[in-house]
Amino acid sequence: MTPQIAVDFAQAFGTYLKGGKIVVGRDTRPSGEFLKHAVISGLLASGCEVVNLEICPTPTVQLMVEELNADGGIVITASHNPQGYNGLKFISSAGIFLNSAQNKIFLDIYHNHKYNKGKVGSLKRCYVGLETQLAKVLASLDVELIQKRKFKVAVDCCNGAGSLVVPLFLKKLNCRLIEFASQPTGKFPHPPEPIPENLASLCSEVKNSRADIGFALDPDADRLAIVSEEGKPLSEELTLVLATKFILSKTPGVVVTNLSTTALVDDVAGEFKCRVIRTKVGEINVVEGAKQHQAVIAGEGNGGVILPAIHYGRDGLVGIGLILEYLASVNKSISALVGELPQYFMAKKKYPLLNAGDNQSLPRQRRGVVPALIQSLKEKYKNKKLDFTDGIKIIDKDWWVHIRPSRTEPVIRVIAEAKTQPLLDKILEEIDSFIKDGTADLAD
Ligand code: MG
Repeated sequence: MTPQIAVDFAQAFGTYLKGGKIVVGRDTRPSGEFLKHAVISGLLASGCEVVNLEICPTPTVQLMVEELNADGGIVITASHNPQGYNGLKFISSAGIFLNSAQNKIFLDIYHNHKYNKGKVGSLKRCYVGLETQLAKVLASLDVELIQKRKFKVAVDCCNGAGSLVVPLFLKKLNCRLIEFASQPTGKFPHPPEPIPENLASLCSEVKNSRADIGFALDPDADRLAIVSEEGKPLSEELTLVLATKFILSKTPGVVVTNLSTTALVDDVAGEFKCRVIRTKVGEINVVEGAKQHQAVIAGEGNGGVILPAIHYGRDGLVGIGLILEYLASVNKSISALVGELPQYFMAKKKYPLLNAGDNQSLPRQRRGVVPALIQSLKEKYKNKKLDFTDGIKIIDKDWWVHIRPSRTEPVIRVIAEAKTQPLLDKILEEIDSFIKDGTADLAD
């Protein structure tokens, strides 16, 4: 990710939004500093009114686009990806990511280099982004109920953007805080994806300090994972499940999530006789589904919780608030709440579509391999319930498997879940031999 690329994309985005008002924020990655200048430069050159929030979570930018009636936003972040990566997230005037139709128009401008010229934009710094987000999230919670419990909470912000707001938020909720990696230095002490294998330090902190719960966020604070009071990392899938159970107990309604998220969402919704709508993977697809079906809660199994009553973005702060209010309202431990849920076994795998260094042939390969693979899976599993919304999802009573081409990496993703480990192993083995045969044949 070079400054030149950032300038070009920012100029294209400024042109796409016809030189409107654009909110800019970034996570703590060191390269965010030079990329910020590049993004602002591109926006100013295309005549935009730039509002710079500096370091803040992705959901803060989303929310401030709405608050300031802006025409769009750019977040400079590589989200949960490794330290050396960086990237840009583009937000529409609705405070949500661009959908595929909007992306197409925007990318056409980028590829054709037909940028706005002539008018020079303006730049101002905005200092109220974090406090606005904090106030909005606090207003949606039973703050007093949470405060009374004086929870002891260990938190790991991975030294990302959450460091500037999560500890503050927890203090306002009267929590006793054990902070780990919660300085906005951009130096990640572990791989930043909040999944169990990356949370060993937080688990020790929780155990050693006898905390009630641990929370881990990714560097742009839109994904949240939980560590139990026993110091055990919970699957990132459980964040949305627990938040959903709590919301539905208060406000029954539609739940929207993607096809790859755990079946526990269906079980929990079933308890309250509520409907679950499944969408394609990708935050914008979940958000569009949530808007269309007026969902009371939405999100993704990767730890992304969306509470439409606040805003249509995955928000780690929202997730923390809901989980703490849930704990306070039932007066049980987090592991007791998890113990009440049915048990599933899940695996997430990916298969490279190409040999390393073979990027030139990527479009042809992807066009060829994936449809053929899906077609052959369709024939093999024709007696099962099949869903073709996003790749293929095969659904049986005690298991499901979702196979789809990634839209961010040249890989095929396989996500499977079953009621027992042997059953999961059997499904994975079947799919494994199928994919390996299929890709080998077609790659020749
Ligand atoms: Mg993220």
